[in-house]
This record gives sequence, C-alpha cells and structure tokens, in this order.
Amino acid sequence: MVILYTAKKGVYINLNDISEEEKISGDLKVYVNLTNKCSCACTFCLRNTKEMKESNSLWLEREPTYDEIISEFKKYDITKFKEIIFCGFGEPTMALDTLIKVAEYIKNKSANTPIRLNSNGLGDLVHEKEIAPLFEGLIDTISISLNSSNAEEFLKLTRNKYGLSSYDSMIRFAISCKSYIPNVVMTVVDCIGEKEIAACQAICDKIGVHLRVRPFE
Ligand code: SF4
Repeated sequence: MVILYTAKKGVYINLNDISEEEKISGDLKVYVNLTNKCSCACTFCLRNTKEMKESNSLWLEREPTYDEIISEFKKYDITKFKEIIFCGFGEPTMALDTLIKVAEYIKNKSANTPIRLNSNGLGDLVHEKEIAPLFEGLIDTISISLNSSNAEEFLKLTRNKYGLSSYDSMIRFAISCKSYIPNVVMTVVDCIGEKEIAACQAICDKIGVHLRVRPFE
C-alpha cells in the first residue's frame, strides 16, 4: 500500500523508493494518499479506469489508518520536506477525520512545513456542515478544482450526485476557506479554451481567490 509518494515528470514514486539524498534535499514534495473514495466521478478521472485500478500503485485496497500513516511519516525527517500535499486517487476530505489528525501531527512535528490540500470542493455537501473551520492553523493552501464557469458544465464533468446546486456549494466552500486558510486557489485545465478561462478568472476575481491554469495531464 503506497501511503506517501512523490511525483517526477508525471510518474508516482513510493517515498520508500527514493534516495536518502533526495529525502533530505529540501526540495521534496510529499503526497499523502488517504483514500480512493470520491464524491465525484469526473469524466477525465484516471481512477475510474479498470487498468488504473489494476496497475497503478496508488490504488488503495483499503484506506490506511491514522497509525499506519504516522508510522510512514516516522521513517522520515518531515522538517526536510518542501511541502506536504493531501492528494491521491480520491478526494482527501472523504477521510476528513484522518486528514485533520494527520495535519495536526505534521504541524506538531514541523510547524513551518507548508501543507496543501487538493480538493473537489464538495466536502460541505458530503459532511453536511461547513468544514473549512477545521482547517484553521493546519492547512496553508487549498487548491479547489473549479473545472468550469457554470453549473451545467461542472455537473457534466464531475458527475457528482448533488446536482446543479453542487456548483454554488463548491464556490461557497471556496469563500468559506478564505477565512481559515491563508492561500485559496482554484484550478482549471488549460484545454478549456481562452473564453472559458477568462470566465473562470472573472469568478475567481469576484470571490477574491487566485486562479491557476494547469496543464491537462
Ligand atoms: S474529483 Fe478528482 S478524484 Fe474525484 S473523480 Fe474527479 S478527478 Fe477523480
């Protein structure tokens, strides 16, 4: 089971498999693979393909427990990591309790190590409450997939079970994160076209968050 990993040129590497030198280089971004569960079934998501489930090492047969995650962290000097990112083959907020406890552990061990959470932004719907306050003092950056400038396209892409109102909920979540997380970023992929990117930029400007246009992988 791969719990901690890093990525090089799009290839995921188990943290156990990299050199000791790299582990303490100060340049290492470390990802935490918490869960396969997700409230979306995005049309472009690799986790939905059978091949990925069978061949990709990030696919978890079961969710790791808090203790299992911590024993992985204990193998390394966290203070040497450049950034720790909650991001795997599922939505990290689906394992919310573990996510919070692990973030607490990291901040206790190394208060200055930045923690990022990559999220689909639907955690409030899943947990039926405002979850952003739980991240205060723990998460330094949240990256939320905006995907689209409108609810219809968002739903078409993410195929989540919450319907059209999921879009507004995701935007509300981003706004709520601003009160608890220093850096709130929304992302879109570069292949959606200039007009759509401009429309997404306008939404981010309106709510006061940064938009990151990332390459489609
Ligand atoms: S939100 Fe992310 S993990 Fe979930 S289905 Fe979409 S791309 Fe996959």
